[in-house]
Amino acid sequence: MYFSAKNTDMDFLNPQIEEYALAHSQDESEILKELNRETYAKVMMPRMLSGHLQGRVLSMLSKMIRPKNILEIGTYTGYSGICLAEGLADDGKLYTIDINEELEKMVRSYFAKAGIDKKVDYRIGNAMQLIPSINAMFDIVFIDADKENYSNYYDLVFDKVNKGGFIIADNVLWSGKVLDNESKMDVDTKAIYNYSKKINTDKRVENLLLPVRDGLMIARKL
Ligand code: SAH
Ligand code: CA
Repeated sequence: MYFSAKNTDMDFLNPQIEEYALAHSQDESEILKELNRETYAKVMMPRMLSGHLQGRVLSMLSKMIRPKNILEIGTYTGYSGICLAEGLADDGKLYTIDINEELEKMVRSYFAKAGIDKKVDYRIGNAMQLIPSINAMFDIVFIDADKENYSNYYDLVFDKVNKGGFIIADNVLWSGKVLDNESKMDVDTKAIYNYSKKINTDKRVENLLLPVRDGLMIARKL
């Protein structure tokens, strides 16, 4: 293979254990494999793509929840969105936002190949500005865009999440940098650290930091 399918600098699992876990998990679809490959071949910062293991985690969570509406903040090349959409209810919809218009053509072509283009509302622009214009209630919100705004996204979406709905944030372990001394943290690390602290003390949700890949913070609205 000419690309690395692994996010080596973000993985906390022992590589052999991860390999074993993947070998005993559902394979990626051919479309997702192709998208993974094309992202690594053509797009900047391919490690941002969720990948096989996390993709299956998002898919399985979504299938457990059977959401009517999902909001994804940070589409990138569409990998996580396609995985999340696998669990949508029959009349469900995935809203997904990204500021990078250069990826639009690629993303739309993969949504079409995955057969979900009619279920997807893909919006291009700054999520902070676009979220208030979306008139829907969500069962899952997946926060995976600029780390500095994680807490702002949480505040902005909170009233749009159904009771019992989930706000899932990616990269909350930030390659382990959240363990740094607070005074030495860079801006992104500090933002992510503050996000986890905020969720953990918010009485309106119950939460779990799942140490999969780069860490998923799952908050369930009470
Ligand atoms: N969810 C994807 C990866 C997302 S990478 C996956 O798992 O496969 C993060 C994305 O956030 C990038 O594509 C970037 O363009 C987008 N982003 C960064 N700042 C943003 C903003 N202010 N509004 C919307 N999207 C933003
Ligand atoms: Ca991510």
